[in-house]
Amino acid sequence: MNKTFFNERFSFCFMQSVPLFPYSTIRPVQDAMIKDVQIAVSSGKNLIAHAPTGLGKTAAVLAPALSVALKKNLTVFFLTSRHTQHAIAIETLRLIKEKHKINFSVVDLVGKKDMCARSEVEAFPSRYFHDYCKSLREKDNCDFYLNFRKDNQLSASSKNVLKFINSLPAHTEEVVDSSKKQSVCPYEVASHAAKDASVIIADYNCLFNSRIRESFFGRSSKALNDAVIIVDEAHNLPGRMREMLTARLSTLIIDRAMSEAETWNENDIKTFLASLRYGMEQLATSPELAISKEQLLAAVEGYDLNDILKSMSDLAETVRETEKQSFIGSVADFLLSWMGGDEGFARILTVKESARGKTIVVSNHCLDSSVATKSVIEEAHSVIMMSGTLTPMIMYRDILGFPSDTALKEYGNPLPKENKLSLIVKDATTKFSSRNEQQFMNLADICARAASSVQGNLAIFFPSYFLMSQIHTYLHEKLSKKVFKEHQGMSKSAKQQLLKGFKQESLKGGVLLAVIGGSFSEGINLPGNFLNGVIVVGLPFVQPDLCNKALINYYDKNFGKGWDYGYVFPAFTKALQSAGRCIRSETDKGVIMFVDERYAWTNYYRCFPKDLAPKTTTFYQQAIDEFFGKAKT
Ligand code: SF4
Repeated sequence: MNKTFFNERFSFCFMQSVPLFPYSTIRPVQDAMIKDVQIAVSSGKNLIAHAPTGLGKTAAVLAPALSVALKKNLTVFFLTSRHTQHAIAIETLRLIKEKHKINFSVVDLVGKKDMCARSEVEAFPSRYFHDYCKSLREKDNCDFYLNFRKDNQLSASSKNVLKFINSLPAHTEEVVDSSKKQSVCPYEVASHAAKDASVIIADYNCLFNSRIRESFFGRSSKALNDAVIIVDEAHNLPGRMREMLTARLSTLIIDRAMSEAETWNENDIKTFLASLRYGMEQLATSPELAISKEQLLAAVEGYDLNDILKSMSDLAETVRETEKQSFIGSVADFLLSWMGGDEGFARILTVKESARGKTIVVSNHCLDSSVATKSVIEEAHSVIMMSGTLTPMIMYRDILGFPSDTALKEYGNPLPKENKLSLIVKDATTKFSSRNEQQFMNLADICARAASSVQGNLAIFFPSYFLMSQIHTYLHEKLSKKVFKEHQGMSKSAKQQLLKGFKQESLKGGVLLAVIGGSFSEGINLPGNFLNGVIVVGLPFVQPDLCNKALINYYDKNFGKGWDYGYVFPAFTKALQSAGRCIRSETDKGVIMFVDERYAWTNYYRCFPKDLAPKTTTFYQQAIDEFFGKAKT
């Protein structure tokens, strides 16, 4: 092996200078990230970090952030939407504690429903759970809650669980088990433990949902200006925030709310709801149209909205004392959102026809994720966003509302270059204007040839179920490997079974067919020979519906980059996430192949991060054969 290459890729430094780092050796690229985190947190600034898979970013961010936090009496919030990342963060913190023999407390929080000790709530949809829990607590009907305190003091059982939490960084599951044994509410104990915690691991909602944040800070006595916020998988944050702030109302919900009003003999509310429904029907003159706030409110113009909304909210409270949820409450919540400001929102009416008839939906779509994030970023001590697909970082700075002095850092890929073959095949496309049977045949042919050359398991990702089905029509007869196909609406357990079967096929080699942006394209881990290749077919652009057009226009108006921020970059991020399922550690080897002529176009090729840089080729089969020939041991 070339000595210079060896030094660049694999040399390790002995890191006496990195406080609280849990390992004895460190890669140069990891060292660079640690220093950037140290600077950001020490100076109360922000950092946006594109950190490729395999860098070891959890340790590289937690060690320096915790080190500064302990000195300055700050709290580190590690926010992630993925269960696996909770576990990795806890393991990293355990190693830090063991290696450095220091005392600090960690709390691992997931949603309240997922922590609830009551077995019957497992079958509840999340939207019913909070009202159910609230009602049990208010009526003294939950023993787990009652056992949390005794005579206004923490009970002995709660203290036992707290002792357990403080003895080691504990996973949520361990806290729930310990709480169940002591018959106390796991969520209450964990929230109480957060008061003394130096690190809190939680979902994005914990800090970016203002209602949850205020409630959490009220219980834990924490404050935003003492928070060091680490957002993991941060490419998901803009979409999550926009969805969180979007409100929808369907005629189906209004019908249920009217039945509820009838049950409770509330004729004024029922008449109000009927007027609202009639107004929606009158507006529904096409399958999709933009409407104004006033157009919908004109349907109920004779009403004093403040009065009627107050009556509806009061009735909803009463209904929730006996029912899991109140539909009248859902309508009232929607109208409060609808009556809000216009800036950063798009109001859209859609008509859906199904076997059950026509449903009209009015939506107040949030276009601006910074409505939820900007004030948090401004007030927090320091915010660090990180992900393996966070390019271009300037887009995240713009749309999340970071200040202009935020550091933007793109780190190199620490994994051995010779373990990865990245290709673009431009002999076919899924471009809408070029779609025909011949294209589908070409795409199937390319996928089948590549599948025969890849040794072992291969995953093929498609932009939609429709395209997967069209291409599979020709693909299935060409494949000699066993096929594992994702279906729309698959249950969680069916997906787990599919993945298990796919892994078991790795010796002979199987082919997983799945959609880009689906649950197989993010969050699954297939180390070693469980996955030796990924093909990403086409570019997963969103439908040009009114909501997406409004988003593009909004980004154009505010940043002059509507097309890039609202259309091109989000599609690329999804494609790169799918590609990222292959090669996740130093020993993984594999092929990543992007199949669509547009990947080679200058306007799209610029979107590949520097650490990927795929080569365009027509001789992909030969390249794959050679790659696996070299890779064979
Ligand atoms: S108080 Fe705790 S245990 Fe009781 S229902 Fe609510 S979350 Fe579950």
